[in-house]
Amino acid sequence: MTLETPIEQITSIGRKVAPSLKKLGLETARDLILYWPFRYEDWSQIKPIKDIQPGEAITAKGTLEMIQNKRSRWQKRMVTEGIISDETGSIRAVWFHQPYLVRNLKPGDTIFLSGQVETGPSGLQFVHPNYEKQTTKKGSPTHTARIVPIYSLTRRVTQKQLRYLISQAIKLAAQIPEWQAPEVLKTYKLPALATALKQIHFPDSKPQLQLAQHRLKFDELFLVNLRSQIAKLNFKKASAYAINFKEKETKEFVDGLSFQLTDAQRKASWEILQDLKNNHPMNRLLEGDVGSGKTIVASLAVLNTLLNSHQAAYMAPTEILARQQYETFCKLFAKEDYSIMLLTGSQVKLNNQENKVTKAKAYKLIKDQLIDLVIGTHALIQESVEFAMLGLVIIDEQHRFGIEQRAKLTRYSPQPHFLSMTATPIPRSLALALYGDLNLSIIDELPPGRQPITTKLIPAEKKGEYYKFIHDEVNKNRQVFVICPLIDPSDKLGKKAATEEYEKLKHKVFPDLRIGLVHGKLKSKDKEEEMNKFYNHEYDILVATPVIEVGIDVPNATVMMIESAERFGLAQLHQFRGRVGRGKHQSYCFLFTETTSQQPLQRLQALVDSQDGFVLAERDLEFRGPGEVYGVRQHGFDDMLKIAKLTDYQIIKEAQASVIHLLKQSEDLKKYPKIKQRLDEFESRIHLE
Ligand code: ADP
Ligand code: MG
Repeated sequence: MTLETPIEQITSIGRKVAPSLKKLGLETARDLILYWPFRYEDWSQIKPIKDIQPGEAITAKGTLEMIQNKRSRWQKRMVTEGIISDETGSIRAVWFHQPYLVRNLKPGDTIFLSGQVETGPSGLQFVHPNYEKQTTKKGSPTHTARIVPIYSLTRRVTQKQLRYLISQAIKLAAQIPEWQAPEVLKTYKLPALATALKQIHFPDSKPQLQLAQHRLKFDELFLVNLRSQIAKLNFKKASAYAINFKEKETKEFVDGLSFQLTDAQRKASWEILQDLKNNHPMNRLLEGDVGSGKTIVASLAVLNTLLNSHQAAYMAPTEILARQQYETFCKLFAKEDYSIMLLTGSQVKLNNQENKVTKAKAYKLIKDQLIDLVIGTHALIQESVEFAMLGLVIIDEQHRFGIEQRAKLTRYSPQPHFLSMTATPIPRSLALALYGDLNLSIIDELPPGRQPITTKLIPAEKKGEYYKFIHDEVNKNRQVFVICPLIDPSDKLGKKAATEEYEKLKHKVFPDLRIGLVHGKLKSKDKEEEMNKFYNHEYDILVATPVIEVGIDVPNATVMMIESAERFGLAQLHQFRGRVGRGKHQSYCFLFTETTSQQPLQRLQALVDSQDGFVLAERDLEFRGPGEVYGVRQHGFDDMLKIAKLTDYQIIKEAQASVIHLLKQSEDLKKYPKIKQRLDEFESRIHLE
């Protein structure tokens, strides 16, 4: 066996489960070694049988005295029972629905049992324990009598099968080359890579496991940080058009708005305009809660770019959002004489006129600098679009904070300035440690006079009442979002969850209303179409999964209804809530929940009590503890951080310090070829996904 050996060739089990494991992206022995458990069960304590107490979760080791199948009289189910004994006594074990056990385990075998012990009809017994034969005297057990790894699975693979395969593959751990600098390992007392890999799967002890976790988390955070620090060095070297601050025109523009900028908007705008003056590219993240007014801030940057006779590009995550922002900008710049283009996969529009422009014509206009501002989807910065004098690129709601997009723009020389915008609250210290290349502006106040959104926690028995309320809102011509959580892990794109909810609402609850449905399995064109229908009020209700970008502005939507709200984090719920309350009508957020346990209810109560995204992010942290809140998914980090969490502050700091240290020794990593190679692999993995 080598690291590249396909799973099919690792024993007969491998052949059986390989097709399922492929779905998890596991194809070779190497993949198995790099597929880490998401939790552990500690069965390491072995007790003499006579000392075992009822209620204990424990491991026993002994000789199997007998084993047989029985049909239980009452439930008619198949029960396998066995008895094991050691020098101190004997104990019974029962298993359900595993009649084949009598073939695997034979009287006389030395076996381990790990499980819950309860008082049964004839004394103490293990109830459905994990079991494992001791095959050789020396070999240590894999599934029992140790800290046992638990992996996330897919259909047709069991923990035992996967664990067994990994226990075979892990013998090759030493072949995965160490790449970390020895001085880093020494400074932070990190174990060697091979040791960490072995211990992360089959830990010898809790401290050993912690060391392994520390090492592997460190590596990920190190690479993320290294990537951004190198990017930062490159920006410093790159040149950009210096965009001068046109004070007079900017003042006039701001005075022409129908409202006054908030202090936070002023400050953020000032920071951005200062950056633009440099002849090195800006790389800034503008963070502000939903509705805090990021667009206006962005428009000041655009205005100054255009006043300096450069072009600007504005990227939105979906076509609908692009269209909305296009209309917003056309209105904002109605008095100026700029040509503004909408460019999406399906549409080109120029200066809000209806006449058709072909894609080819659009590209030519952009290239000839006859267009000042282009608003569109990510298609906008692809190779085929060539700007003549691109001064500024803005990315809205980009979860990865624009790292990929940023990279695409390095083909321009001079490089454009770059602004990403996000509504995800992420604390400054964290953002800076992770994105060492970014500068950060935060809008931490909402424009005055916002109507708070009435938020209510609705227990199961009150559901009917609120369905009626929702129906009344629809009768008043208002619209409703319904978000349903992903419950079944195989339903990654939420097709099942959303479809079930849709069927229920359509046939049982609101048979007389017009209901639309979007989930991740739909083609993006169909998704857009459904959303557009909702936007155009052809639907009263839109059922969606959380994986769907619902970031459209539908001022007529007044109700956000969330099913099984306890399944979401506060930050995410807050984002959903931000989709209503965008028009002049009083809006509502209904959190439906069936749970009766205190902790999740208290957590949801925080949402009822506060409308501040930053406050909620902190409450979430208190309630759910680190790990969950800045969950990697929500930040688009899922392909970069498998094990590290954005709350691993201490490790983040260590990783950052060591990156800075190493880059000081060798800016181009020439002194650290192994690190360079590892970084390249890391990058190519990210690009593949
Ligand atoms: P977001 O930060 O979520 O992108 P927007 O930029 O879309 O928020 O702004 C939300 C709404 O608030 C818009 O209708 C915008 O015109 C309005 N707005 C922005 N700034 C102010 C302000 N200072 N005073 C009043 N209304 C504002
Ligand atoms: Mg916005």
